[in-house]
Amino acid sequence: MEYVALLIGAPEKKAVTGQIAALASEILPGHPAPDWLAPGTACAFDFFDEGGEWGAGADLSATLQGHPIDIALLSAAEYGKRRLLIADMDSTMIGQECIDEIADYAGVGDKVAEITEQAMRGGLDFRSALRARIRLIAGLDRKFLTEVADKRLTLNPGARTLVQTMAANGAYCALVSGGFSFFTRIIAERAGFHDHRGNELLFQDGRLTGVADPVLGREAKREALEHYMGELGLEACHTLAVGDGANDLDMLEGAGLGVAYRAKPLVAEEARVSLNHADLTALLYLQGYREDEFIR
Ligand SMILES: [Mg+2]
Repeated sequence: MEYVALLIGAPEKKAVTGQIAALASEILPGHPAPDWLAPGTACAFDFFDEGGEWGAGADLSATLQGHPIDIALLSAAEYGKRRLLIADMDSTMIGQECIDEIADYAGVGDKVAEITEQAMRGGLDFRSALRARIRLIAGLDRKFLTEVADKRLTLNPGARTLVQTMAANGAYCALVSGGFSFFTRIIAERAGFHDHRGNELLFQDGRLTGVADPVLGREAKREALEHYMGELGLEACHTLAVGDGANDLDMLEGAGLGVAYRAKPLVAEEARVSLNHADLTALLYLQGYREDEFIR
């Protein structure tokens, strides 16, 4: 069967050197030459493997262990431009968990972070955890939340480039969060997403009172993927999903290519590709985009 192996590092590190590429080529069946998608940052190798992909992948991982490089092994059919990007927000497209930032800003950070961590590791029911955290921050002024977004929320490296580049190539980009639409609206605009979904916060007289039913969780993310596929007439093979938490797992599994980004161990193990070193532009390399095609 035909495969593509990709080596991807963080752009500022230039860790994917000619020497590293030569090492990889030596290990892979047929010793393919690297196709440089971005010199020093990303290269791809096409190869045939009668025995299946996993042997070559394990050898590559063992050889490159200790290097700040992500390895992805795709079938040749999986390597190509996608028509739908569906992305988680907290700790994926942005570097923060919104609710933790609100709580910290409001002075109840420790209590809320404890519940968030438990929920993200899959040890606590997502909905109960969300409601428990909302109770801790109830009463906050709407303006306070806007201030949190302005002062605390930052796009992760490569987020805007990923969305802009896919959008410029005709892909539909949706931000789907188990967090709040109050923030997905702001972040979707900053990154250039076409659409966004999140839980609606409820306010009374400008003050936070709770969250609207039904609370969107793990199933809602998978449903969102299916919704967009239906709307756009796409099959799973046209889609790409990225996330970091337990409630992203169904969405990652349902997409043609599910990518774990700086994910919790449980999620990293399950996802098709796991990124621990590269920034979000790695999702472009995984589709065969070259750095000179990027829209920044
Ligand atoms: Mg997340």
